[in-house]
Amino acid sequence: MAARNGETYLKGLRDNRNIWMDGSRVSDVVDHPALKGAAQTLAAVYDLQLENSEICLGDNPQTKKKISRSHMIPRSREDLFKRHACLKKIAELTVGLMGRTPDYLNLTFAGFVGDKSAWASNGNEAGAERLSLYQQQLMEHDWCLTHAIVSPGSDKSQGDAPRADDAITLHKVENTEHGILVRGSKALATLAPFADEIAVYPRTPMPEGSEKYMLAFSIPLSTPGLKFLCRDSMSTPRQDFDHPFSGRFDEQDAFVIFDNVEIPHERVFIDGNINVYNTVMTKTWMPNIMQQTMIRACVKLKFAWALGRRMAAAVNDQSLATKQMLGEIWCYSEFAQAAVAAAEAKAFDQGEGFWTPSVEPLFALRSMLPSWFPRVSEILKLIGSHYMLAAPRADQLHDEEMGGLIEEFMGGADGIDAEERAKIFRLGWDFLGSQMAARNEQYERFYLGSGARNLQSVLRIADTAYSDSLVDQFLREE
Ligand SMILES: Cc1cc2nc3c(=O)[nH]c(=O)nc-3n(C[C@H](O)[C@H](O)[C@H](O)COP(=O)(O)OP(=O)(O)OC[C@H]3O[C@@H](n4cnc5c(N)ncnc54)[C@H](O)[C@@H]3O)c2cc1C
Repeated sequence: MAARNGETYLKGLRDNRNIWMDGSRVSDVVDHPALKGAAQTLAAVYDLQLENSEICLGDNPQTKKKISRSHMIPRSREDLFKRHACLKKIAELTVGLMGRTPDYLNLTFAGFVGDKSAWASNGNEAGAERLSLYQQQLMEHDWCLTHAIVSPGSDKSQGDAPRADDAITLHKVENTEHGILVRGSKALATLAPFADEIAVYPRTPMPEGSEKYMLAFSIPLSTPGLKFLCRDSMSTPRQDFDHPFSGRFDEQDAFVIFDNVEIPHERVFIDGNINVYNTVMTKTWMPNIMQQTMIRACVKLKFAWALGRRMAAAVNDQSLATKQMLGEIWCYSEFAQAAVAAAEAKAFDQGEGFWTPSVEPLFALRSMLPSWFPRVSEILKLIGSHYMLAAPRADQLHDEEMGGLIEEFMGGADGIDAEERAKIFRLGWDFLGSQMAARNEQYERFYLGSGARNLQSVLRIADTAYSDSLVDQFLREE
């Protein structure tokens, strides 16, 4: 195979995966009322890549078959620009509301293999080789992956690393004839019901003595013992006028339980190797993956800016307050685009011919977005005010008794009719006020580490030499 279509993707979801939703086990993800909308959207992502093959597909260097550009290891700045176009196309389909479309983990694994020597260090050559073979399979089958890297942790005062006796966090129990047996849990896996496989890989560094928690692997979702507890659905029945987003973009988040799961040897990439576990994520992972996450953010900010302008225009809101707030969203959007452009312009070969954008502009953006997105949401709510609630549904608009009255009393400014006004403000409510909107705001605050932690980490990556020299010229003055 190679790049697959939506129909093939949906067929793959019909297995005996153990997904729990609203009190019962899901028998068919594709047909489940709370899941089918997002499943169809993910199928549309696969179709979109085929329909836009010039932008989204490239050649697998080994097999020469067509694959998504999100699978490819960038070998030049030009490759990064090509990948940018593919990532943008995918983000546009959901205006950035689905953060974990398959390209996210495709990039992650392409980046791991691009940085293979880091995985192959300290006696982990076999693990790195298995990882490389796995990524070839990933490209060939075009699987959709979810990932779970954050430990559940119920006592934050204990820090991030599990204590020696921690039985809650995912850990290795023993070696088996065909691999390793693991038990424990992971905090959250977005997209889990819709994925073919789940990947686990390092997050925060761990101290010596916690080797049994130092694991990296990837396994099919239907692996025996693997169980997913979905959060409450925020999906509504598909009705694009009434709920333009909630009917199709609820990507789900699930708590993951590994109830004695056997991981076959060929899928184990790290097994207790402390040096590898603590180093593989430190150099190339962030700049590589953030190209996807920040392009998605740019698309979402552009959408937000246009939505704000449309809401204001629908009621001819020309107030200075609204103009000022729209200006603020535009600034966030321009800063975001500029950061991505700067990071790509300063892209470089990280070694072994693996190119990534430079990390600093992306890290700065990543650190600010957890507060920018909630502010954007606040601004749009201020502009949308009561109009987002006085926005009739499609059936009310077309009701024999109510339709005419709605047209008479609920139109917009400058000839905008009631239907158009309702459409704009319902779009606004689903972006800002619905259950799914609340989840999405939480996602932006936390999906790539909390804003708080990101800001605390800046000193780890920031170049201090030039700014220090500015201070030193006065401190060292004779
Ligand atoms: C919608 C959503 C989807 C997610 N999807 C995934 C997924 O698919 N896969 C996955 O692995 N994870 C996922 N996550 C988990 C995500 O990675 C974590 O929530 C994120 O890393 C933040 O970790 P935390 O919750 O421990 O927050 P913390 O970083 O601990 O921050 C929470 C709060 O603790 C305080 N705090 C600040 N600094 C620190 C510090 N240094 N140490 C401790 N506390 C601090 C602050 O008040 C902060 O707001 C998802 C999370 C959300 C909300």
